[in-house]
Amino acid sequence: MSAYRPRRAWESPLYHAVAENLATFLADRQLRGRPVPFFVVRDFRAFLDCGVPAHGFLRVHCEACGRDRIVPFSCKGRGFCPSCCGRRMAETAARLIDETLPEAPVRQWVLTVPYALRFLLAYDREWIAAVHHVFLNTVFASLRRRTGLSSLGRNAKGGAVTFVQRFGDALNLNVHFHALALDGVYSETEDGALLFHPAGPPSDDEVGRVVARVARRVKGLLARRAEAGDFDAEPDSEDLLPALYG
Ligand SMILES: [Zn+2]
Ligand SMILES: [Zn+2]
Repeated sequence: MSAYRPRRAWESPLYHAVAENLATFLADRQLRGRPVPFFVVRDFRAFLDCGVPAHGFLRVHCEACGRDRIVPFSCKGRGFCPSCCGRRMAETAARLIDETLPEAPVRQWVLTVPYALRFLLAYDREWIAAVHHVFLNTVFASLRRRTGLSSLGRNAKGGAVTFVQRFGDALNLNVHFHALALDGVYSETEDGALLFHPAGPPSDDEVGRVVARVARRVKGLLARRAEAGDFDAEPDSEDLLPALYG
């Protein structure tokens, strides 16, 4: 039987790195005139308190065996804390499997974009939505093609859940997409039942085609927005995230 073992948050290399360097890092950014946005500072500070009993804990008592346990508070951070993000990820995965995803094969598609576009995506939710739309539609079209159901057009339906990540492995600003897409499409039979058509693994060439199509369509979007003068406006000064860039 495995019992709950409190993690020793303050012993992790990440905790040490943040604890030892946060003040210097924040002061350095301030000096360079590129202060770190307040919500990032807040997340870092909360991380340093997360799972550390000195910053607050619950004492849990078990009536059955009479034992007490100390359960430190967690920071519930969304951006940075690996423990809280990990727990949220596990809960989300369980919910997706129990309640959302049908019993069908799922493939993960990841889309990253060139640097200049990352900057734009960090500024602008509408761009995130637009690029995401292009990405999924292109993946769905590839699935339809590979199941031979292109002729049904949009009536052959794909399904996906996407997580938009704001950071890359090195905690650099890197907006990118992780899409869990059903690896096939559904069609509807005459009596209204749903039929799943598996697509199977895409070849490297097919993945290349998807990338090329997404790139072409996003370039098209950029060109149209540029023509419409969309990029002349000053970025929203409320959105401080881009200050992290570079
Ligand atoms: Zn007990
Ligand atoms: Zn935490």
